[in-house]
Amino acid sequence: MERKITKHYSNGEVTIVWQPHVCIHSGVCFRGLPEVFDPRRRPWIEQNSSTTDKIVNQVKQCPSGALSITYDKK
Ligand code: SF4
Repeated sequence: MERKITKHYSNGEVTIVWQPHVCIHSGVCFRGLPEVFDPRRRPWIEQNSSTTDKIVNQVKQCPSGALSITYDKK
């Protein structure tokens, strides 16, 4: 059975939550914000390469729900 892992990438303000088993590989994230999302890189999400606003806006456009955002406690 496929193991369902969830990864978390925090920039200190928000955490990008990534569920690989949900991703449909649409490419919306890395076309929209390639400095953060780059599937050729490991780790493929670099959450400190852009602003929180841009990250939140991009994550909202993920068509599958594989990407989501949680707000970090101050
Ligand atoms: S936008 Fe969402 S579904 Fe598309 S590749 Fe990125 S994580 Fe996967």
